[in-house]
Amino acid sequence: MHIRPEQPNILILYVPVVLRQALFPIIWNKGQALLEVLQHEIVNCRLCPRLRDHTARIAVTKRRAYRDQEYWGRPVPSFGDPEARVLVLGLAPGAHGSNRTGRMFTGDSSGEILYRVLHRTGFASQPLSTSRDDGMVLRDLYITASAHCAPPGNKPEPGELRNCRPYLQRELDLLTNVRVVVALGKIAFDVYLDILRTRGVIASRKPFVFGHDLEYATAPGSPRLVSSYHPSQQNTSTGKLTEPMLTAVFRRARRIAARP
Ligand code: SF4
Repeated sequence: MHIRPEQPNILILYVPVVLRQALFPIIWNKGQALLEVLQHEIVNCRLCPRLRDHTARIAVTKRRAYRDQEYWGRPVPSFGDPEARVLVLGLAPGAHGSNRTGRMFTGDSSGEILYRVLHRTGFASQPLSTSRDDGMVLRDLYITASAHCAPPGNKPEPGELRNCRPYLQRELDLLTNVRVVVALGKIAFDVYLDILRTRGVIASRKPFVFGHDLEYATAPGSPRLVSSYHPSQQNTSTGKLTEPMLTAVFRRARRIAARP
């Protein structure tokens, strides 16, 4: 089952959150039900007024090329396979990309390269992600973000990242098959390591140095961590990150996921 909070199960709309959390695991697959509940909470979250104002304002002012489109204009839910062994952690939605389309990495150049690579490496059903309704299916891979709202200048403030972190922590608990976390960019890398340190999984962040296509063991039984440059337009247009470089990251992720 793919997580599609934009097309919620009708039950979810009429059942209070407390009851959902108590009842759904009994009548449904526990992890998938709680993941779906979580995505509804994210989409309706208002913990960061600056970001909610920004996403809503962008949805009204729009970019000229998209002036006839209706923008999503709110927190963007995670997207992918609840049984995934590979978890991709990005930074935050783009103002005219995910904030417009409502799907992670969809609608701007960073998504174009990412989904081409995911298709080539067997994680995505098609090479182009254009909208929430384009039929794209991710297999064995789940995409989430360090912050679920588009920030001004693509830079969430530290307090905003802290606000959003509990959502990621809950996803990590619910995605029980994950064997490798791919952190796209240094902020995502730092956010994930902060969680591991807070939880006592690692004693120190010192051994973990951000770089491209680097793999780290964290603790026995915990997912491996792979760091990658973010596929932002700035990185891809300058050649800091090329398509073969990003392909190598996801080929590595597939090898790690397949390890016995
Ligand atoms: S960034 Fe995260 S915590 Fe802040 S408003 Fe958006 S969804 Fe909520």
